[in-house]
Amino acid sequence: MLNIDLRSDTVTLPTPAMREAMARAPLGDDVYGEDPTVNRLQDLAAQMLGKSAGLFVPSGTMGNLASVLAHCGRGDEILLGHLAHTFLYEAGGIAALGGVHPRTVQNQPDGTLSLDDLRAAIRADDAHFPPTRLIALENTHNRCAGTALPVAYGHAVRALADEYGLKMHLDGARLFNAAEALGVSAQELAAPFDSVTFCLSKALCAPVGSVIVGDQAFIHRAHRARKQLGGGMRQAGVLAAAGIVALETMVERLKEDHARAQLLAGQLAELPGIILDSGLPQSNMVYVTLDETVRLDGKAMQEKLVGLGVKVGVVASRRFRLVTHYWVDDAAIVATVTAFRQALAGEML
Ligand SMILES: *Cc1c(COP(=O)(O)O)cnc(C)c1O
Repeated sequence: MLNIDLRSDTVTLPTPAMREAMARAPLGDDVYGEDPTVNRLQDLAAQMLGKSAGLFVPSGTMGNLASVLAHCGRGDEILLGHLAHTFLYEAGGIAALGGVHPRTVQNQPDGTLSLDDLRAAIRADDAHFPPTRLIALENTHNRCAGTALPVAYGHAVRALADEYGLKMHLDGARLFNAAEALGVSAQELAAPFDSVTFCLSKALCAPVGSVIVGDQAFIHRAHRARKQLGGGMRQAGVLAAAGIVALETMVERLKEDHARAQLLAGQLAELPGIILDSGLPQSNMVYVTLDETVRLDGKAMQEKLVGLGVKVGVVASRRFRLVTHYWVDDAAIVATVTAFRQALAGEML
C-alpha cells in the first residue's frame, strides 16, 4: 500500500549519508564546548548566515525561546504576528517561562506585518506600559501558506526598529526555503536581524535540531538560556553531524520540493470541489479547501485519504495543508492527486 506523508516536512527521515556521518562523527562533551562536530556545525551555520556565532539547540521552539530570553527581560514586550508560530504553537513558552508579554500585530496574507501596524504597536515610555523590546518575524511564514518575506521588507522593518532602539529576531524555521523561493541567499535574508533560528529537522532532513545565530554577545546569553531550559546536550555531535550534511548537501535541492508543490497545487485545483485558496505556493506548502459542493468535512476527507495511503494535515474545518519534501517524489504527486479524485468520487452534492 502507498504511504505518502504530506502532513509536514518534519516527517523526513535522515538520509543514508546522514546516518553514515552520524556514525563517524568525532565527539566530546558539548556542555564543556568540547564537541568538535557541534562546533563545526555552529561555525558553518554562522558563516552561511553571515553572523559571528551559532548555537545548536534541540528544537526550533527552544531556539526561539532561548533567543527571546536572550533579548528580553521579564515584563518586556515582544511584537509578533497573530499567526506567528511562536504565538500559536510554542505552548506560550515566552510568557510562561520568560515573563515576556506577547503583543500581536495582524499578519497580512503574505506573512508580513504592516509597518504602520508595527509603528502603532510600539509603546511610549510610560509607567503604564510594558517596554517594547523585540520584533519577531517568520520566514517562510507557515500559517500564511509558506510565503517568503523579501529582503527589502526585512530592511524596512530594521529601519523602524532602529528608530526605536528595538531588537529583531527571525523565526527562520524554513529560512532556506525562503531563500530558494526568492532566489537570494539565506545570508541576505538574515542580514537585518539580530538573531535567527532555523531548523535542520524539516526540509533539510536532519533527525533533530535547530541552530540560533547572532553576534558573540547575544549567543553568550542564548547559551545560558539554553542551559536554563535544559537544552545543554553532551555528545550532541552525533546529531550535529547530520546537520552538517543537511547544510552542505540538502539546501540546493529545495527547489525540487517547491516545483512539486506547484505541480500538486495546480493539479488539485483542477479537481471539482477543491479550491486553491492561497494561490500557487511560493515554497513547499500547499493549502487547499473543500468547497460547499463536497459532502465531506476536512476530518472525514482526511480519513478517506489515509485509507488510500495519503496523509495530509487538517488546519481548519474544511482546509488542508500538504507539504512536499525529500521523501515525496513525482510519482507520489501523481498518486496524491489520484487519491483526492477517488476520495471525492460519490461525495459531491
Ligand atoms: C516547526 C516550526 C518551529 C518549531 O520547530 P520545532 O523544532 O518543531 O520545535 C518554529 N517556527 C516555525 C515557523 C515552524 O514551522
